[in-house]
Amino acid sequence: MTSYKSFKCNQCGSDLDYAIGLHSLKCISCGQVDPIETEPLDSYLAHDYQQTVNHLSYLDPVIVNHELNCENCGANFTLPTNVHSEECPYCDMNVVVPVDNQRLLAPDGVMPFEVHQHQAEESFKKWLHGLWFAPTSLKRKAIQAEAIQGSYMPLWAFDAQVESDYTGQRGDNYYTTVRVPTNVNGKTVMKNQTVVKIRWRNRSGRVFNQFDDVVVMGSYTLPLKFQNFLSQWDLFKTQKYNEKYLSGFRSELYQVSLPDGFKLAKEVMYRTIRQTVRQDIGGDHQRIHSIDSTYHAVGFKLMLAPMWISAFNYKKKSYRYVINGQNGKAYGERPWSIYKIIGALLLVTTIAVSIYMFSQK
Ligand SMILES: [Zn+2]
Ligand SMILES: [Zn+2]
Repeated sequence: MTSYKSFKCNQCGSDLDYAIGLHSLKCISCGQVDPIETEPLDSYLAHDYQQTVNHLSYLDPVIVNHELNCENCGANFTLPTNVHSEECPYCDMNVVVPVDNQRLLAPDGVMPFEVHQHQAEESFKKWLHGLWFAPTSLKRKAIQAEAIQGSYMPLWAFDAQVESDYTGQRGDNYYTTVRVPTNVNGKTVMKNQTVVKIRWRNRSGRVFNQFDDVVVMGSYTLPLKFQNFLSQWDLFKTQKYNEKYLSGFRSELYQVSLPDGFKLAKEVMYRTIRQTVRQDIGGDHQRIHSIDSTYHAVGFKLMLAPMWISAFNYKKKSYRYVINGQNGKAYGERPWSIYKIIGALLLVTTIAVSIYMFSQK
């Protein structure tokens, strides 16, 4: 059996839930409020990536299945795989299992929930109603597939200084006149026409990028296409990791290893590096042939981020969605109406053709 923590009211002994937005625990029975001492996470905190990778004996995250005995109702139960904070399925008592730092890195920080469940549900409805090119019957026929769940999800945040040597080509436009055969009153005559051409020249050089807190997912629970949405956080609101913020919520242990997290972060960084290379090449067009990057001073931290997660069913398919528990924004998988998309394309084409015809008169 795994040992765990549960937070109890000192007035009546009932369960304490984290009270959203209040930096406090609150008794579910008598309402007694127990403030949590706020301890903002130093935003410059970062562990040395290379040193950690070289010295850590457990780079691959373990699969964790916590077996617990509920001190409230006496039942034995197993938490879902890789979950370390949850409720007893029989009596709803909150349990938080401390992170075993013999086998896993402990989170450095946690961004507490600020968005209430009812606000998350509202936000989801708005999102669903605002979807472009969604089937007309979606709003009527979307069925909540599972209860919305407040869940802390692990995120890796990376810092790095990157030097990149590149080779490529710079293209500059120039204008030249060519003679083209043109039909005038049924006769073919040669006319001058100005055309744009591109002069390509080889370019090579070195660019420098500094990255702070490139955030990537530390969990496989949500698909990778959620990555972009789930990288947008106000990290200044991060508190030092404290189990009290987890009481009453699900919390996941990371499953994406530290090196795999860095690989994901490099992909995000690469997009910015390419932009920098394009700017450095200059001109009207750029071709990139090679980029060779060296990463210096790589730092990382592990954080827990608050999310409301659920799914809806539409026409026998399930679509997952998530609401950012910090700013209330919603995002998810969704059905598309092929008819509406074709309709819109036809409309755009018709307008374009009309404009063309009009301009030819
Ligand atoms: Zn109480
Ligand atoms: Zn129980």
